[in-house]
Amino acid sequence: MRYERQLLIPQIGQKGQERLAASKVTVIGAGGLGSPVLTYLASAGVGKLQIVDCDVVSESNLNRQFLHHTDDVGKLKVLSAKEKLSMLNPDVVLSTVNRRLNGENIEECLIGSDVVVDCVDNTDTRIMVARACINLNIPLVEGGVSGLYGYVIDIGRDYPCLSCLGYDNVKPVTPIPVLGVTAGIIGCMQANECIKLLLGIGEPLYGRMLNYDGLSGTWEEIQVKKDENCPVHANLNIATRGKNNG
Ligand SMILES: [Zn+2]
Repeated sequence: MRYERQLLIPQIGQKGQERLAASKVTVIGAGGLGSPVLTYLASAGVGKLQIVDCDVVSESNLNRQFLHHTDDVGKLKVLSAKEKLSMLNPDVVLSTVNRRLNGENIEECLIGSDVVVDCVDNTDTRIMVARACINLNIPLVEGGVSGLYGYVIDIGRDYPCLSCLGYDNVKPVTPIPVLGVTAGIIGCMQANECIKLLLGIGEPLYGRMLNYDGLSGTWEEIQVKKDENCPVHANLNIATRGKNNG
């Protein structure tokens, strides 16, 4: 009953639903992007969700991080998120990682995921996540917001990453200005990409960066290419190749 309406979608159906139920997704960051991503993946019936975050809820999170409520201020984000998601869909197996990811522990954390969704807010973590996903050959859905602007792109071993685009050199202002609804829009796009990748349907945003401008109400698609000198792609550690996700 819960999935009745999405079972009607020809690209999903019973088979697709079973595939979602058998999938594991890791979502890094349970904040402004992570809230819509986790909510829609849980409601769609993704079987296993791993929530990674090492922060506690603060009042200034509440304009956008809707998995956390006023009473949650001071609580661990992973626990606050898990609480809401288990109420939303008790069938989803939720695991939490309340640890800061670093070069030592990240691959161990991501191994076994069918897709990783990056919902963080800083360049260093994005690059570390991309490096690990490319190394393990796990598809990665990347998204970011600033003010009323945002972007989404899918990243893979054979497709360009943010470092291919020279993103390493972009130093955003902190704290990043964000309107909650903008994070919501970009997070929803990330959840959509994640479901497409899990089901192998549609055209993933590989090599295609979608840029959103909330002020003009426009989306612009930019075709991007892998950079042969990209430090993330060049440092591929073949010895630790994970399972082939295509
Ligand atoms: Zn690259």
